[in-house]
Amino acid sequence: MKKDTKVIRAGHSKKRNAGVVNTPVYHASTVVFDTIAQLKDVGPRALKGEKALFYGRLGTPTHWTLEEAITDLAGGADTILTPSGVAACALTILGCVKAGDHVLVSDSAYEPTRKLCDGLLKDFGVETGYYDPCIGGGIAALMRENTRLVFCESPGSHTFEVQDIPAIAKVAHARGAKVAIDNTWASPVFCRPLDLGADISIEAGTKYICGHSDAVIGAVTATAEALPDLRRAVLALGYAVGPDDVYLTTRGLRTLSVRLARHQENAMKVALWLKDRPEVKRVLYPALPDDPGHALWKRDFQGASGLMGVLLHRTSPAAAAALIEGMEFFALGFSWGGFESLIAPSAPKTIRTAVPWTEAEPGLRLHIGLEDPADLIADLEKGFARLTAALV
Ligand SMILES: *Cc1c(COP(=O)(O)O)cnc(C)c1O
Repeated sequence: MKKDTKVIRAGHSKKRNAGVVNTPVYHASTVVFDTIAQLKDVGPRALKGEKALFYGRLGTPTHWTLEEAITDLAGGADTILTPSGVAACALTILGCVKAGDHVLVSDSAYEPTRKLCDGLLKDFGVETGYYDPCIGGGIAALMRENTRLVFCESPGSHTFEVQDIPAIAKVAHARGAKVAIDNTWASPVFCRPLDLGADISIEAGTKYICGHSDAVIGAVTATAEALPDLRRAVLALGYAVGPDDVYLTTRGLRTLSVRLARHQENAMKVALWLKDRPEVKRVLYPALPDDPGHALWKRDFQGASGLMGVLLHRTSPAAAAALIEGMEFFALGFSWGGFESLIAPSAPKTIRTAVPWTEAEPGLRLHIGLEDPADLIADLEKGFARLTAALV
């Protein structure tokens, strides 16, 4: 089955849904049984991750549909849904480490992931080191005897470095460590990290998979070897994912490939326009041929989504505010991956520890939505006039 067909078909079960196209929303806590023997049979299977209906928190057919669909798209043995993307990152790390272990995290990682590592994880006796996202096989020099996990995010959602996942995975596996990737930027339609050698692929389903800015959800897809530790952690943490959010996300998934194709087309038009602007120093978007990550992106990805960074020659908080606050079609807000365009200031300098970020701040982070790109470009053009006026 080709990818676009999978997006439509994956997770479908005519039998499970009595012929209805979409799996209904099961609102469930208690599930009742006729006999003790049945209860004793289903329980252990459900706890092991089998798709057996036992208790609402462990999932219902509503959840299984999305789990199977994401697994089909991402590869791997199965997918665990989580209440948010942050919860997916946390589950992955907590599932892979114990006291005395060491974790390597990309310097470009999403900030809450770093907060977990520098906070809770440190308190629990797990040490974190941060690495240059462009390190590739050079990560060997940072691996310790007790390194259990390398946590990647590629491209970084503020700084957009593309990582050499096969090279990192080769080193990590030789040293007995697992590799996890936050794959939210690409989604499983544009990148399949497990095919590149990763053990665990994470999605903030909140972004492109849901795609409509109306649900918060995460997903962790893993190989058969990596799954048991993750299942143990998810049971201990007591994560439960609301069935309405699951339903919305499955519904969003069915249009994921058409939406991403348009995000990509619009984003490329905007990126090419931005790149020639006198105010712009560099556009951080790996699909651009002169982006430093372009070769790796071309090798490992099947497309580019709508999120990009913009470095400015000259900027100030007031000038960036003048640009951002006057936008007509770009809304000011976090999160991304919905149908709408967004803009926000970006200032990664204080977050980074392994490789200093030396660009003028604040830069911009744009999410290019599904509007007509001509409107978006006209909006940005007026924005740059406001930026320049506020700088003199
Ligand atoms: C948004 C985001 C998350 C977190 O997702 P939530 O659902 O908001 O918790 C994790 N990783 C990346 C790269 C993100 O952009």
